[in-house]
Amino acid sequence: MTSFQTLTVLVPAYNEAEVIDAFHRRLATVLDGLTLDSRVLYVDDGSRDDTWARIVALAAVDARVRALRLSRNFGKEAAMTAGLDHVDSDALVVIDADLQDPPELIPALLQRAADGFDVVYATRARRDGETWFKKLTSASFYRAMERLSNTPVPRDTGDFRLMNRRAVQAVNALRERQRFMKGLFAWIGYRQASLVYDRDARNAGTTKWNYWRLANLAIEGVTSFSTAPLRVASWTGLAAALLSFAYAAWVFVKALIWGDPVRGYPTLMVVILFLGGAQLLAIGLIGEYVGRTYAETKRRPLYYVEDRQGDLPLPPHE
Ligand code: UDP
Ligand code: MG
Repeated sequence: MTSFQTLTVLVPAYNEAEVIDAFHRRLATVLDGLTLDSRVLYVDDGSRDDTWARIVALAAVDARVRALRLSRNFGKEAAMTAGLDHVDSDALVVIDADLQDPPELIPALLQRAADGFDVVYATRARRDGETWFKKLTSASFYRAMERLSNTPVPRDTGDFRLMNRRAVQAVNALRERQRFMKGLFAWIGYRQASLVYDRDARNAGTTKWNYWRLANLAIEGVTSFSTAPLRVASWTGLAAALLSFAYAAWVFVKALIWGDPVRGYPTLMVVILFLGGAQLLAIGLIGEYVGRTYAETKRRPLYYVEDRQGDLPLPPHE
């Protein structure tokens, strides 16, 4: 294996008290088998159950454990950012706490990185325990992202990945507030490779995602990485205007030839509704980007740390 001396495994955890012990046991077995000097960095994303107490207990028995507790639930993207800021090892693995990403894959990720890759992301081959609707929506999301964005996000890829030091530094240098991590990971470039694996169903507990959160993440993903929707809005507006113009000409000619007694009400309604709809669509899209600009200009910190366990490097930012 190449130059990796130290490894940090970053685990964002939100209300994972039910699985965290099982997760740590499996992870520890994998880490015991490695020759690297390894650390586990848990980021408790403001859990309301006893996730933090469990993490503190793990730290008491396993010297590899480090932890951060955020001041509230900031979301997985911010939790990962917090973790990334507190890492100073040669290699970093990001993994979910719910055992959906098998820790046993870590040696294979290291192996692949040793072939000279800066980022090795794990790509799911099969999805167990997820409904066909979730499969369909996530498949369409990746396909849409691929078509819209200038920096394609690898398909069927979660956040489970290995990054070397320079890739971590590159991601850490991106301080935008609207963080679509998969997009940022792809945006940095360098040499990236994928490793295909089978994704398991969640071990215990329930997913923190619902369709509302997923839909919001999808909008964030599209609008953070592409201005194509603005162009769609312009084209829709133009097409709507042209169509209404043609229709108006037709109504005018018809009135000249045959006259138009009382009617005209349906025509008016159709045109007004259609144009109104097209305008609302365009305004909504513009609003998305304006809102994004607003959020960025506030320059707020991305998270606050409430508590920590073990020695951690100081974050370079803020
Ligand atoms: N997570 C987090 N903050 C949140 C939501 C989730 O840190 O606000 C963590 C969660 O504990 C887990 C990972 O992110 O380790 C993935 O979450 P989940 O399993 O709910 O998402 P899914 O696997 O369905 O994408
Ligand atoms: Mg999960």
